[in-house]
Amino acid sequence: MNLNEKIKELRKERNMSQEELAELIDVTRQAVTKWESGASSPDTKHLIQIATIFNVPIEKITGNKQTGIYTVKGNEICSYCGKKAEFYKDESLTEAYCSPKCQQLHTIAMNKIKKNMKWFSIGIIISVLSLLSGAFLNFSVDKNLVVGGGIILLGITLILFPFCTPESYKKYGYIKTTRIGRILGFITEMFGLIILFLG
Ligand SMILES: [Zn+2]
Repeated sequence: MNLNEKIKELRKERNMSQEELAELIDVTRQAVTKWESGASSPDTKHLIQIATIFNVPIEKITGNKQTGIYTVKGNEICSYCGKKAEFYKDESLTEAYCSPKCQQLHTIAMNKIKKNMKWFSIGIIISVLSLLSGAFLNFSVDKNLVVGGGIILLGITLILFPFCTPESYKKYGYIKTTRIGRILGFITEMFGLIILFLG
C-alpha cells in the first residue's frame, strides 16, 4: 500500500472526514484530497502531524524505511533549538529535531564546526602551551604576560568557537550549548585580563 492509500485508510478507520483531517493539520481540504489521490505528497512537517494525529509511526504511513523519518517517543529534545523533538535524523537515533528547519540549521552549524575545527585546536594548543610554560618554565619575560596571554587566547577561542560534544547538543540543544560555551569564554577572557593587568 502506498502513501496516499495509507492516509485514506487511516482516516477512514478513524471515521474522520477530509475536512476534519485538514483542519487538524491546518491545510485546505483540497490538499488532503490531493494527498489521498496521489496528486501530491505531504511534506515532512505534515507527515509528522498526520502520524501524530493517527498515533502511528511515520514508517507505517510511508511504508518505507528509507525516508529517514523516525518519530520520537518520549522526552527527546531538539538537537538544535532544545524544544521537544518530533523525529530522529536517522536510524542511529542519536540526533532528534522538532522541525525540518532545525535539522537544516543544525547541519549547517555542524559543517561550520568541522571547517573551523583546526582553528579551534590551534587556539587551545597555543593557550595550553603558554599556560604551561608560564607555570613551569623560568623565563626572563613577565610570567603574568605569558599566563594572562594564554588565558586570554583560550577565552577568545571559546568565544569564537564555542564547540561542544555531540552529546551536549543532544542533551541541551545547539543554541543553549553554544550560549553556555560563549559565556564560559567570556569569563575566561575576564580572568585572563585580570591576571595580565593586575596579577
Ligand atoms: Zn528545534
